[in-house]
Amino acid sequence: MSVIREVLKKLLSGPLTEDFPRKSSPTPENYRGVHELDTDLCLYIRYGICGSCEWVCPSNAICHLEEGGRRVFRLDLGKCIFCSTCMEICPTKSIKLTRNYEFSRRSRGEIVLEWR
Ligand code: SF4
Ligand code: SF4
Repeated sequence: MSVIREVLKKLLSGPLTEDFPRKSSPTPENYRGVHELDTDLCLYIRYGICGSCEWVCPSNAICHLEEGGRRVFRLDLGKCIFCSTCMEICPTKSIKLTRNYEFSRRSRGEIVLEWR
């Protein structure tokens, strides 16, 4: 009898899983998600110097280059392991990992971030 009561209780209590993607799931404060870069503070974008984040990145996800006479900061989320070493090493605190985890895309190229 108690088994039936338990089953009925579970049936009536609704789903226990998250309602993602209809509703975003909350992330902890120190969650390491998609990066954001403050281009006003980044020494590479502003002056073409530094590049520390590229040197320390263990998965070669960051690349600094020049294209059409402009400096480009490229970050490949497909290579990134979200270790946050880039954020820790940055002398100007211009690169940050946010709490955003929603970056699923249909093609590989769409998860390569670029700032100029
Ligand atoms: S370490 Fe910081 S300032 Fe230096 S290139 Fe990277 S993001 Fe820019
Ligand atoms: S979080 Fe880690 S792996 Fe990702 S870009 Fe930064 S240093 Fe590289």
